[in-house]
Amino acid sequence: MELDILAFAAHPDDIELTCSGTIIKSVKKGYRVGAIDLTQGELGTRGTAEQRKVEAAQAGEIMGLSVRENLGLPDGNIEINKENKLKIIRLLRRYRPLIIFVPYWRCRHYDHAHCSQLVSEAAFYSGLVKIETGEPPFRPKRVIYYRCRSEFTPSFVVDITPYFHIKWESIMAYKSQFSEEAGVPGVVDTGYFLETIKNISRYYGSLIGVEYGEPFIVKEALEVDDPVDFFRNISPERVFNTPGR
Ligand SMILES: [Zn+2]
Repeated sequence: MELDILAFAAHPDDIELTCSGTIIKSVKKGYRVGAIDLTQGELGTRGTAEQRKVEAAQAGEIMGLSVRENLGLPDGNIEINKENKLKIIRLLRRYRPLIIFVPYWRCRHYDHAHCSQLVSEAAFYSGLVKIETGEPPFRPKRVIYYRCRSEFTPSFVVDITPYFHIKWESIMAYKSQFSEEAGVPGVVDTGYFLETIKNISRYYGSLIGVEYGEPFIVKEALEVDDPVDFFRNISPERVFNTPGR
């Protein structure tokens, strides 16, 4: 099966918390989207690997994913080595996604940073003929980075306003992490953490004049073929595009 988007994350629930609005929007447009979680999140303070597996499947259904796989790498020890690169290359060559979503390369959580580098490197090497896996070489058009916790100036922001409630539903599928019963206060303390997720979406939405947005960054310049057409398609209702406001 060929995919339009393949999203990679270190832990189950990373995708829901970061780029799920864009994934849901893409699925609603008719694109095929898949997700690969590198680990089972077994080091997480709350819940077990088994619980998170069930929750990830439920969240995947809510997002409308065509595929969701778990690579089973050890949580807290995502190594950037030849073996793991080959595992990612095989996935890329099997699903042949047009674009891939990967965590931003700077993050306080080393798993996120390692996931970012491992998948970015694999995406490059996947295009080389002499790395043989039994499937033809393939390189996605672009590696697109989503925001975890570290700040960046986005290359673009996607308006997810009509889909924010579904994003929320996909996050809430992780009952072991975010329900009242989850207990165990910590960094991911239910109340303020979830408010923060909402506020971050509102902040990035505000940058493009909408209620909720998700930011992305790419390493290379983005080509705009037709600036007139590009800007004509930006909604005129947005506050800062309206003359006199
Ligand atoms: Zn994570």
